[in-house]
Amino acid sequence: MRPRPFDKTTARGHILLAGGIHLLLDRAGSLAPRVDGSRDDSSPATDDNWGDGGCRDMAVAHQGGTETRLREAVAERLGEARFGLWFGEGVQLGVSGDALEVGVPNAFFREWIQGHFASNLIEAAEAVTGRPLRLTFRVFDEAEPKVGGVIEPGPPDERRQPTVTIPMSPAPRPPASPPERPRNQSRPPRRLDDFVTGPCNRLAHAAAVEMVQSSGSAFNPLVVHAGVGLGKTHLLEGIGRALRARHPGLRLIQATAEVFTNSFLDAMRTGTLASFRSRYRGAEALILDDVHFLAAKRATQDEFLHTFNALIADGAPIVLAADQHPKRIARLTDELATRFLGGMVVKLDTPDLATRRAILKAKAAARGVDVPEAILDYIAEHLRASVRELEGALHSLIAHALLTGKRIDMALARTALRDTIRHTAQAVALRDVERIVCQLFEVEPDALKSVSRARALTYPRMLAMYLIRKHTGAAYSEIGRHFGGRNHSTVISAEKKVLGWLRDEQRTSLLPGFETIADVLAALERMLGV
Ligand code: ADP
Ligand code: MG
Repeated sequence: MRPRPFDKTTARGHILLAGGIHLLLDRAGSLAPRVDGSRDDSSPATDDNWGDGGCRDMAVAHQGGTETRLREAVAERLGEARFGLWFGEGVQLGVSGDALEVGVPNAFFREWIQGHFASNLIEAAEAVTGRPLRLTFRVFDEAEPKVGGVIEPGPPDERRQPTVTIPMSPAPRPPASPPERPRNQSRPPRRLDDFVTGPCNRLAHAAAVEMVQSSGSAFNPLVVHAGVGLGKTHLLEGIGRALRARHPGLRLIQATAEVFTNSFLDAMRTGTLASFRSRYRGAEALILDDVHFLAAKRATQDEFLHTFNALIADGAPIVLAADQHPKRIARLTDELATRFLGGMVVKLDTPDLATRRAILKAKAAARGVDVPEAILDYIAEHLRASVRELEGALHSLIAHALLTGKRIDMALARTALRDTIRHTAQAVALRDVERIVCQLFEVEPDALKSVSRARALTYPRMLAMYLIRKHTGAAYSEIGRHFGGRNHSTVISAEKKVLGWLRDEQRTSLLPGFETIADVLAALERMLGV
């Protein structure tokens, strides 16, 4: 990578967040929150600070002083141990209009926090802001951020607060927050070293390591694509962290596509396009998360194409993440999609059973908690959709042990995970199959439900029907209904057909790399973790 002179325009900048809150980037590169109504439009925007769930979380995640004071006020009311458990990594607090918004990793957290700490939260928010606020939740593991569970402020209801004594033994100790974590950042970036590998993600991890080592000279860009909660942001953060460690002072821009879009629109509006361009096109490395956000935004895509071309011409490494293969991102210009394909495109698949287990083991060890093997197996066998889901389950198990003072054993695991597992086992199973079939064949779920009888759709549709029948116990009629209101006899004949192919060891040219239908089914079942 060619070193460039230090550019003064990037040494200082700000991000404008909701509610007139600015994050200032000082010369030393550290972020300091400033809360006021003023705006200095002459400084270019900077995006070097980003949150896990992408830009949509940033307003919540980085309201600097407000979040810090909210956290302190909530911690005061709950005690450090309980606060550390439920409001640690992955849970964010922020004020948005007349609402206290709590960002949570999954529905389990939402329910628990709402059920146990609603009045504490409302009270803390009022103490910090001086006005009564509603309580709203934002669940990060859902494709679209969902704001729900609104609770009106009211007198604190003491009966809802269980008295909890945190036992010192034999329950596991509460997770300690990493000491190096800056106060205005919800957590430090993740590391490539902490990324557990298996067949589902080994290639992507190796490509990430290679990208760091070669700084883009081996291939450029690197595009990582996968569904939610499978580790895209983790890999990108790891690459960013490793690049910085390898090249101290590197002018690296690490942001989400939403931040890029907003900065661009802002620059157009305020007549600061020149500094926006010099900032992005003058970067020495660019890591952009969630690029599917650019879909259908024509002007931003054009701008990004120029940024992309300038960086590639300069040999600056580019790393992108998306929820789909670039060719499948609807309404991404062909030109941009083709440019994305110019380097290395790697996919993260849903982890198989062994990898899910290894991930759980690593996460438990990282938290200093000894979880019996049989319980790791239990969680790994039941939760298959994403790594984020696995993390949520482990977290709730540890929380249950801590709150009830019980040992982590099978009975506790069953109780702690009952709801999560019931949900996933019922509703998700069918959708799980659908999702992995769509992933492997790179088709849209809607297309599977359509009336189309194109070969590219009938095969995956039949295989999905067969697998759902085999693994979920769903009724023929239910499966038919799910796939666009088809008759139960369609499902029966799909099943017969697939069984026939298996019996005849039917060869196939459906997907490159697979010789027989049995191979395709085996791959799908591996992805499903069955
Ligand atoms: P995505 O960006 O694909 O939605 P994330 O990168 O946010 O997913 O991952 C969700 C959670 O799962 C994060 O806490 C991340 O650290 C964890 N995770 C994902 N894959 C792995 C892995 N292979 N090893 C360890 N942790 C992982
Ligand atoms: Mg992500």
